[in-house]
Amino acid sequence: MIALDVQTTTRQVFVNIAPWMRIVFFIMITASMLVMAWQLEKRRRLWRTGERPGFTRDWRVWLQRLTVYALAQKRVHKKSLGALLHLLLSSGFIVLAIGTTLLAIAYDGPYYFHHGWYYLIYEVTLDIFGVAFCLGCLLALYRRAWSKPPSLGHNWRDWWLLSCLLAIGLTGFLVEALRIHFTQVQPWLAHWSVIGWAIDVTFLRGLGLKTAQNLHLASWWVHAILVGAFFVTFPVNRFLHTLTGPLNIATRPKRPMGALAPLTMAEVEESGRTGVAELRNFTQSQLLSLDACMECGRCEDACPAFASGKPLSPKAVVVDLRDLMSLGGGNVHETIRDETLWACTMCQACVQECPVLIGHVDLISDMRRDLIGEGRLSGPPAKALQQIGNQANPYGRSNTDRLAWAEGLDVPTVESNPDFEYLLWVGCAASFDSRAQKIARATAQLLQQAGVNFAVLGREETCTGDPARRIGDEFLFQERAQTNIETLGRRKVKKIVTPCPHCHNTIKNEYPQFGGQYEVQHHSALLAELIAAGRLPNESKNDDEGPITLHDPCYLARVNGETEASRQVIGAAHDPEYREMPRCGKKTFCCGAGGGRMWFDEAPEQRVSKLRATEAVATGAKTLATACPFCLNMMTDGVAGTPGAEEMKVMDISELLLSRQAK
Ligand code: SF4
Ligand code: SF4
Repeated sequence: MIALDVQTTTRQVFVNIAPWMRIVFFIMITASMLVMAWQLEKRRRLWRTGERPGFTRDWRVWLQRLTVYALAQKRVHKKSLGALLHLLLSSGFIVLAIGTTLLAIAYDGPYYFHHGWYYLIYEVTLDIFGVAFCLGCLLALYRRAWSKPPSLGHNWRDWWLLSCLLAIGLTGFLVEALRIHFTQVQPWLAHWSVIGWAIDVTFLRGLGLKTAQNLHLASWWVHAILVGAFFVTFPVNRFLHTLTGPLNIATRPKRPMGALAPLTMAEVEESGRTGVAELRNFTQSQLLSLDACMECGRCEDACPAFASGKPLSPKAVVVDLRDLMSLGGGNVHETIRDETLWACTMCQACVQECPVLIGHVDLISDMRRDLIGEGRLSGPPAKALQQIGNQANPYGRSNTDRLAWAEGLDVPTVESNPDFEYLLWVGCAASFDSRAQKIARATAQLLQQAGVNFAVLGREETCTGDPARRIGDEFLFQERAQTNIETLGRRKVKKIVTPCPHCHNTIKNEYPQFGGQYEVQHHSALLAELIAAGRLPNESKNDDEGPITLHDPCYLARVNGETEASRQVIGAAHDPEYREMPRCGKKTFCCGAGGGRMWFDEAPEQRVSKLRATEAVATGAKTLATACPFCLNMMTDGVAGTPGAEEMKVMDISELLLSRQAK
């Protein structure tokens, strides 16, 4: 008997709504959607003021990114109140929106499919996700009222948005319960509308049918008006990110995290500037990305510049630029101060954390390029650039001293060993800085001990241009890149190994932009391979090393995803005393040297290295290992004077491994 009922079961759409009311409803909803479309078009026109499109147009990339970052929401932390409420709200909203659209299609379309098992499953599904939606709204309201993280953006529009959404959800359930009550739906059928039925049997038992019908009509109108108001305000509140977020995720430029966009002379001629001075100098893709920000604050929480008290918040950069866009554009330097732009270490932590894939580093880099073009940099970093231009290294040393570090080691050069397998790219720091030179020595000695066929370029090696590009001198970088690519071609280089993560990143990810393609390894990877092949013993550590902790360099771990090799080199897996810092691996914390900050003067209390040294000390380690000459110097500086770090040694992984060979 029930089986027969199931086949024919359905409910009347617009029950209790007079025909003239339906017309008013359709006019109201159409008008509110037109207002929404008009406001969205105004935003689109603002994005279109960008000088070039800059979008990725590969639909396979769109699909892959939308699956990972929009549907699976990979960047949203899995164990937090914010993540839970976001999951409830977004899943509820998506299912309710799909359900309402299906109902409209069934009602207005040629084929009425809203009956039978489809209808029953529809009812129960929408009720379950309706609960998720209301719960998400309640948790979001609670979080803003009583548990708001400092970095979470907040204004009065958020109260409106969440209250409006919650009211839409609650009135939806009320309408359902009153309909069940006054139409006297059979109990077995009402059970499928589980929440409406529960409200009916709990609260509406003694309610007269006529009263229920009148209340149904009133609640239906409140629900409908709220939906119309939501459409009208959608483009001017945080909910806009549900559209712009996926758009930005899908279409943002496709480049390795460690590669900045090359600037061409044609672009300079087009804009008349070297970089971004006016908001319209950004690409359309970058302007769209500003509207994708939901002010969640994840970027700010991860930012070492912000944490160390510098005048930079990546969230504020995005929000300030968005506000400038809303005003119709203007000069970015009147909104973003020079000190803010120079404070960035380009560690990419903000980019890694952003759920909607906003490219803060690209924004900052583009504005830095303009500052350089306008000559607005002075002091030590300006001198470093000058020295890269004049002496081909930021230390201002003669390139004839490039092999000073190798004294007494009989290191083969490309001239003495032209049939080398690996080119050891030493890098400027390990070539010229007296402390970092020990890394070059240790690496070369280890390669010699393992019988690796390698050579160095000697005086033919010049700065990769990494500091120039990150400070903002793009054409100085390109000059260095082209010279080096020419040298590497002339010397028929195929495999490169380097102890510097910045050289590693630039040669691997940025030289291909100019035709330089090589197999590039960080020394940690090659040393780990040699250990695994039994060519370098690494059985036990020295007594004086004590407990070890590892500082992962940003451009090795976060930017290039290489975290295991360094641990293999120091034998972390077999060392019961090994300590991991809370921020480790791909989620490492900067040392403060990147983005050219190595050459900026810093007040001691604003040093990122101090924060990192404090974390290292808290592990109880006696040796702080690292895998980058810049990190080595910054952490040596950070450890000095940090309470509890009096006994702490800072060493490169190659130095540790070499000291174990000598046992
Ligand atoms: S790159 Fe690093 S320092 Fe720069 S804004 Fe992002 S998190 Fe902050
Ligand atoms: S830029 Fe990204 S991470 Fe930062 S507040 Fe906006 S959405 Fe959140």
